[in-house]
Amino acid sequence: MKVVTSIAKMQELSRQTRGAGLCVGFVPTMGFLHEGHLELVRKAKALADVVVVSIFVNPTQFDRRDDFDTYPRDEKTDRALLEREGVDILFEPSAEEVYPEGADTCVNVPRLTHNLCGAHRPGHFDGVATVVSALFNMVRPDLAVFGEKDYQQLQLVRRMTRDLHFPVAIVPGPTVREADGLAMSSRNARLEPGHREQAPIINAALRAAAAAFLEGETGAARLLGIVREKLDSCKAIKLEYLELIDGESLEPVEVADQDSVIAVAAFMGAVRLIDNIIFARATAERRGNGRLDELERQGGDHDATISN
Ligand code: AMP
Repeated sequence: MKVVTSIAKMQELSRQTRGAGLCVGFVPTMGFLHEGHLELVRKAKALADVVVVSIFVNPTQFDRRDDFDTYPRDEKTDRALLEREGVDILFEPSAEEVYPEGADTCVNVPRLTHNLCGAHRPGHFDGVATVVSALFNMVRPDLAVFGEKDYQQLQLVRRMTRDLHFPVAIVPGPTVREADGLAMSSRNARLEPGHREQAPIINAALRAAAAAFLEGETGAARLLGIVREKLDSCKAIKLEYLELIDGESLEPVEVADQDSVIAVAAFMGAVRLIDNIIFARATAERRGNGRLDELERQGGDHDATISN
């Protein structure tokens, strides 16, 4: 595995790779890697010839200084994990090079970022959209894999990629969970032991709502009521938002259908957790074909590029 820190070097390696007719797959991360990240890497490996993983804890997407300062980091373990997965290039640019002196450009995707996490984390998604655009220009990938765990982020990256005509296929990766259902996250490491034990209730509550939907319940108030009731039973959970939304526009809906998603954010102590349930995926899982091709292709935006 090559470890690259220089942006010019990364661009040159990508140019050479694509010049040789090979497809570049990209997985952007902030490090402290877990199985969720590694599944995205495996997906990239299955689809691309050369896989680049970036580790960059992007200062501009943190709305709280303490969150940035305490964001977990473990470079040595990350490198070993990526090496073991057969990653070709680990790209670790410095903040100084990513944001040159006087940097003043911002990518903003307003309609998809005004609500949910965007409403509670001012500037967060501007930071995400700007750094993802910059990373696309540094890595020049043919495809990039993003997790459904960060559902709003995935949708804004899709929108931005279309709007700015990045020649990058955006590939979604399903949320990877601990055995007890808790969505894997680098932040889980910071949960107090008692909170860690109770945290799976978030996923259990979402699954209860999806089960009710599969039994025919479509009213937003009743579906969200099921989630809220379960979460209320756990005193340590401080709900930030809970919404039933359309999976593409991210706007709230009153009546659920196959395109709906329930998204939730909650604090446990100082740790902010997010999770979601995608009704189309829940339906597919109920039918026993959870990894429906149809869903993997959602948006239909990556087939053409991958086959290049
Ligand atoms: P992060 O390091 O948190 O910025 O995440 C890097 C990428 O990994 C993003 O595309 C996330 O959506 C994805 N990711 C994080 N946690 C998970 C998970 N549990 N399952 C699937 N993808 C994930």
